[in-house]
Amino acid sequence: MFLKIAFWGGANEVGRSCIEVSEGRKSLLMDCGVKIGREEEYPLLEKIPRNIVITHSHLDHAAYLPHIFAKPRPHTTLYMTKPTRDLIQLMIADYMRVSRNEFGPRVFNNMLTRCRAVEYRQVVDCGMKFSLHNSGHLLGSASVLVHNPAGNLLYTSDLSTRTSRIVEPVESGLSAKTAIVESTYGGKGDVMPPIKEEMERLRRIINNTLKKDGKVLVPAFAVGRAQELILMLDAYMKGGLIEPAPIYIDGMIKKALHLFRHNVIYARQELQRSILMSDSDPFKSRYVFIPERKDRSDAIEEGSIIITTSGMMKGGPVMTYFNEMAGERKNTLLFVGYQAPGTPGRMILDGARKVRVHGKEIEVKMKVEAVQISGHADHPGLLHYINSIKGLETVYIVHGEERKRKELKKSLEENERYEVILPKNGEKFEL
Ligand SMILES: [Zn+2]
Ligand SMILES: [Zn+2]
Repeated sequence: MFLKIAFWGGANEVGRSCIEVSEGRKSLLMDCGVKIGREEEYPLLEKIPRNIVITHSHLDHAAYLPHIFAKPRPHTTLYMTKPTRDLIQLMIADYMRVSRNEFGPRVFNNMLTRCRAVEYRQVVDCGMKFSLHNSGHLLGSASVLVHNPAGNLLYTSDLSTRTSRIVEPVESGLSAKTAIVESTYGGKGDVMPPIKEEMERLRRIINNTLKKDGKVLVPAFAVGRAQELILMLDAYMKGGLIEPAPIYIDGMIKKALHLFRHNVIYARQELQRSILMSDSDPFKSRYVFIPERKDRSDAIEEGSIIITTSGMMKGGPVMTYFNEMAGERKNTLLFVGYQAPGTPGRMILDGARKVRVHGKEIEVKMKVEAVQISGHADHPGLLHYINSIKGLETVYIVHGEERKRKELKKSLEENERYEVILPKNGEKFEL
């Protein structure tokens, strides 16, 4: 039987990823996120399918779950890897706190009783067969391979082709006739500098700021880059490459760090070994502290590097620190992750030097820097990965800004091997 795909969200945008693949009367929903921008936006879903697979714990892929599980769904099954199942609870709790929606008290119970943990490469039969494969984006993150006799379908979800401190790069070389590929950094100009160079720059930015008695503020998502950065800084401070200094972590970052360690069996072997073999566990760094005072004055006074949510500066503890630090030229605001258009983070990154926080105008005098330690593949990385897929005929490009999708399409069409489609939200296709 042939497959059908419906793009309910995240097709021509970054946010509210939600794709339904069906075969006859069977169907599988891949991700259901929300879009956090000026307004919150949801998938255009017509009805809730019985089988839902979540690729990773970011809000743009999973935050619609509490809307679905606000009531019991005894006939729905949720599939995800174990780290995703753990991390998602943290993310959703955080989302529910800041969301304007009212959710029932039993959301977590409703959700977790329907949740099935899936191992990488395990074939699941829910009427349709699929397997999950490491996507290299984050601990537990997965691509979904839908097995079909007429040709497999691969949904990459967010992917990274680089080895990070925590996870192995995306599993390449899978067999699929059709692929749905992300394009967050798919633009022609999205070529990330070699990781070594970027790390050197990161060290220089931090050392220069600390030397001038300044402080570094890093807005980060609760899960992903923050943990990566903590392990990096710990290693650099231990090795003398960065002046040892107190790192304060705030928001959900510390809880997520615990969950990372708890699920370290899903991390790179080197990292597992560093925990088993040495007596300095990078997850329990002596440089890392958490604020104890409610007003965070201890972190503001003593912290040299502060890593905190929210990642795009849309509220959260980062704003408290920003309010204190923005006015001093010796301080640095350091971006390490994607900034969506319309968010304060993106505006500052694009050069805005006056921002409104809680109704108050703040002048940004601190230095603004960005380093590319992204969990997404860049343009060459995406091309290389796509070309590794065996038997590939058609590529749908999603999860990207319009210009980036078009540029990736153009590059893919240059070798005339694939048909390339740029789907829009709400569009349906038959394979
Ligand atoms: Zn993600
Ligand atoms: Zn995403």
